[in-house]
Amino acid sequence: MRAEIIAVGTELLVGQIVNTNAQFLSQALAELGIDVYYQTVVGDNAERIRAAVETARKRADLLVFTGGLGPTLDDLTRDVVADYLGRSIGIHEPTMRKIEEMFLGRGTAFVESNRRQAHLIEGATPLRNDTGLAVGNALSADGTHYLLLPGPPREMKPMFRSDGSAWLRGLLGESQALHSVMLKFSGIGESQLEDLLIDLIREQTDPTIAPYAKEGEVAIRVSTKADGPEEAARKLEPTLQAIRSRTRPYLYAEEDIPIEAAVIRQLTQKRMTLTVAESCTGGMVASMLTTVPGSADAFLGGVVSYSNGVKHKLLGVPMEQLEGPGAPGAVSEETAAAMAEGALAASGADLALSTTGVAGPASAEGKPVGLVYVGLAERGRPTRVEKLQLAGDRQGIRIRATKRALHMLWLSLTGQA
Ligand code: ATP
Ligand code: MG
Repeated sequence: MRAEIIAVGTELLVGQIVNTNAQFLSQALAELGIDVYYQTVVGDNAERIRAAVETARKRADLLVFTGGLGPTLDDLTRDVVADYLGRSIGIHEPTMRKIEEMFLGRGTAFVESNRRQAHLIEGATPLRNDTGLAVGNALSADGTHYLLLPGPPREMKPMFRSDGSAWLRGLLGESQALHSVMLKFSGIGESQLEDLLIDLIREQTDPTIAPYAKEGEVAIRVSTKADGPEEAARKLEPTLQAIRSRTRPYLYAEEDIPIEAAVIRQLTQKRMTLTVAESCTGGMVASMLTTVPGSADAFLGGVVSYSNGVKHKLLGVPMEQLEGPGAPGAVSEETAAAMAEGALAASGADLALSTTGVAGPASAEGKPVGLVYVGLAERGRPTRVEKLQLAGDRQGIRIRATKRALHMLWLSLTGQA
């Protein structure tokens, strides 16, 4: 099935908002095995929305709309589609009751235009809106399928995930549904990973292997079409096994979670606590860790020791190690180790992670941009330091250093280093 996403809204055209709905829908449709051939953006204008529908009908079997289901006069999507198909508009009673009850509950005057949110195109399947009022519309006519979703992402996403995707699955027939496993890697670049798997990637037909990369993180989605979860697991397993055996130290999760979540999970399972001492990452390690819900049980806090003075005063790094002729300097194996050990001693945590390096754009202490040392101190174990030479601009280096530090910790926690 070929799909076109039509985002309706003048705000999108004038650059007031970003079309995140199209991104979400493209990903969600791909997961269902539906190919998106076009994304269109059109303003709140009946004539131009109609022209967009006419064009899309010629090149797609499924038209997915977002926006323009609200109460106001500039919300036109439903009216235009009904008009285009020569269908009338009826009332979806449960939605109408919900709208009336909401106004009664609030005690505010009923605004007549709100009834528009209960409008349902003749013959359309209503899609429940659990986070808002406007009912979604799904219908098929003359071999083309139309899915009308609200504009606000907080309404559009839940509606798509529940009734919207169920309706699409019905169109596809369950046998065509796509099942996939997301493999997440850290400590390895995209091209390096591709190299390890090159023959598998070249020979792939079913399951398919699709790489994705973000800064400091690489992912591979392994997918197959199957009748159900058991058949999917049977078809996916040999490919997953082959990938696992070749990528073991880098593969940290078989679900779409970031490395910081994998680290927090390990710490929590082992009932261990962590502190950080950060220089070049400026608090990014702490920030990433605290995005994980429940991190408070494992992460105690840390020190952003950007200057030599703070490295010395708060972490006890000897001044003669940081400065002066012949000193190793702030960016050194010795300092990374002393920072981690200082943080461990001061905090009472079980583990301490440190970062010190040159994020650029200028070199420092005569050391090259991208040189980073990551230290890991642990109670009852010798302190370890890893030397990294990272590529990228200032922000890229900081993100990569953060992710690599977290990966080093994950390797240690999982007994792989
Ligand atoms: P409402 O009932 O809020 O009017 P609606 O279905 O009529 O909803 P719009 O009026 O088109 O939708 O958009 C409402 C809001 O939803 C926008 O102000 C914007 O914040 C958000 N929105 C709309 N379209 C998109 C989009 N494509 N991507 C991201 N956000 C969007
Ligand atoms: Mg609106």
